[in-house]
Amino acid sequence: MEIPFNIPAVVGNELNYISDAINRRKLCGDNFYTKACGEFIENRFKAQKALLTTSCTHALELSAILCDIKPGDEVIMPSYTFSSSANAFVLRGAKIVFVDIRPDTQNIDEKLIEQAITKKTKAIVPVHYAGVACEMDMISEIAKQYNLYVIEDAAQAVNAYYKGQSLGTIGDFGCYSFHETKNYTMGEGGALLIRSPKNNIRSEIVREKGTNRAQFLLGMVDKYTWVSIGSSYLPGELNAAYLYAQLQNTDEINNKRLNIWSRYYSALKALENAEKLCLPFVPEGCQHNAHMFYIKTRDIEERTRLTDFLHKRGITAPFHYTPLHSSLQGSKCGRFCGEDNYTTDTSDRLIRLPLYLDLTYEQIDYVCEQIYAFYKDR
Ligand SMILES: *Cc1c(COP(=O)(O)O)cnc(C)c1O
Repeated sequence: MEIPFNIPAVVGNELNYISDAINRRKLCGDNFYTKACGEFIENRFKAQKALLTTSCTHALELSAILCDIKPGDEVIMPSYTFSSSANAFVLRGAKIVFVDIRPDTQNIDEKLIEQAITKKTKAIVPVHYAGVACEMDMISEIAKQYNLYVIEDAAQAVNAYYKGQSLGTIGDFGCYSFHETKNYTMGEGGALLIRSPKNNIRSEIVREKGTNRAQFLLGMVDKYTWVSIGSSYLPGELNAAYLYAQLQNTDEINNKRLNIWSRYYSALKALENAEKLCLPFVPEGCQHNAHMFYIKTRDIEERTRLTDFLHKRGITAPFHYTPLHSSLQGSKCGRFCGEDNYTTDTSDRLIRLPLYLDLTYEQIDYVCEQIYAFYKDR
């Protein structure tokens, strides 16, 4: 049996909508499907404003511009995350201050944030790992007290909640990813969620090459000119058409993913009870979206053996982030604040199991049987 790590979902109307987009004779952004996706996100996830972008990376870059991040500013985030979380701010000249993660959720340890704040700190970037929420009450409280921006890297957290509120809508800005490895996809794409209406117009300007084209089209200004720095962060209609079909099937995708996640969880629970491995933990008040199912082995040696064991049996189970603070680029533009108790440890021990819409129960059971076979004599 060959089981890849991911296969992008196809749920029904993707091809119809793409051909409809072609027939509409408008392929650039902010036409029918781009707008429909933005509005869908606003309604479904109760976002004040959602702008579709070319990626989550670009939504993060947009946020960094909107927060006026300047050379010398500091931005706090976990080191256990994707390069994009940091790149967006480093591109504006910021220094990154990395904080350790919690060993249970692999999210930034909210109790360690305050000690990382200096006079130069401008923003906190919580990353909702595996679609499980960071402790947003405490993070928002700290941000308010020190007057900092909160930019949620919610790349993995579309349709996940913290105390009933959609992730991505709690901070000043929220960034979604619709990359093919994420729950809902358009190949490459993302969205910027904006909490305060006062940022709406400027966000559209920065997203449209620094021009006021959006207001010009609405008749709000009579000239269409270059008014700010910006870039091209607006996706085209064909990709948005694909995403629209996916968003319309949000419940089907979410339920199937949750079923897969639960089947892994119940099947592997006995191994956790026997203290052979660790399973994901979802704190109270967090409603996750089954973005990922991971396990943590005892140490890096066991992880390497298990990965090879699964690979030989046709199963692709990759590890995840190399801590940014120990990467070539990260060591140049950031520093780790406090002790690294769990970041490198998690990076050494974590493995992600295959999880995608078309994964069958038979395949899940096969993956679990192989994991049991591996642990039989350990
Ligand atoms: C996937 C991911 C990104 C990048 O998303 P793109 O849409 O590919 O730019 C950023 N941060 C995290 C945590 C991610 O998982």
